[in-house]
Amino acid sequence: MKVVVWNENRHEQTNQVVADIYPKGIHGAIADFLKEDNFEVRTATLDEPDHGLPDDVLKETDVLIWWGHQAHDEVDDEIVEKVQKRVLEGMGLIVLHSGHFSKIFKKLMGTTCDLKWREADEKERLWVVDPTHPITDGIGEFIELEKEEMYGEHFDIPVPDELLFVSWFEGGEVFRSGSTYKRGRGKIFYFRPGHETYATYHNEKIQRVIKNAVQWANSSDTPVPVYGNAQPLEQIREK
Ligand code: ZN
Repeated sequence: MKVVVWNENRHEQTNQVVADIYPKGIHGAIADFLKEDNFEVRTATLDEPDHGLPDDVLKETDVLIWWGHQAHDEVDDEIVEKVQKRVLEGMGLIVLHSGHFSKIFKKLMGTTCDLKWREADEKERLWVVDPTHPITDGIGEFIELEKEEMYGEHFDIPVPDELLFVSWFEGGEVFRSGSTYKRGRGKIFYFRPGHETYATYHNEKIQRVIKNAVQWANSSDTPVPVYGNAQPLEQIREK
């Protein structure tokens, strides 16, 4: 299975705290733990030509992971169109943290995807609300993160097909922090944690969720539906 980890990769260049936590970038950290599970992983970043997502790469990608934050507007609309087309064709998409405001996520959701936020080094507890789902496999009752950014309801997303995690924050807010959608033949998972100044992607349970999600989101082997004018399967009696 071919996985591309896309990252804006800007905080890593300007913020030493982020660079110290993720010396190879957030994309490099995610790629490294995915390689442990023998996925074929490559990375792509905003400042590469075609944002690292030329046609030949997109065409063969089974699952795309997306982390972006301060430069959503710099993502070329043409690339966003191409990613959307690939999702509708069956490419899986995993949108992380501040990717909730990415052009691709907003386009696929059709809503503002707005939310409340606060940076106050507070505790987050992500409760598993669907323990039978493959993405929550091996996680137990909850994941606890000592310090994270708060995202709070209301989160302006369409009603998820499946809600897998609900977060509680020390300051009192709650948030739908893990949700799935299908768009066309593509499977989408939004997963909240991962603010750049915290070591969230080094947490083993967070890594497990993302690994599980990559497995779940791959639907490249599913049959292609037939559309358009159709011949009847049985002879239709004249009436
Ligand atoms: Zn953040």
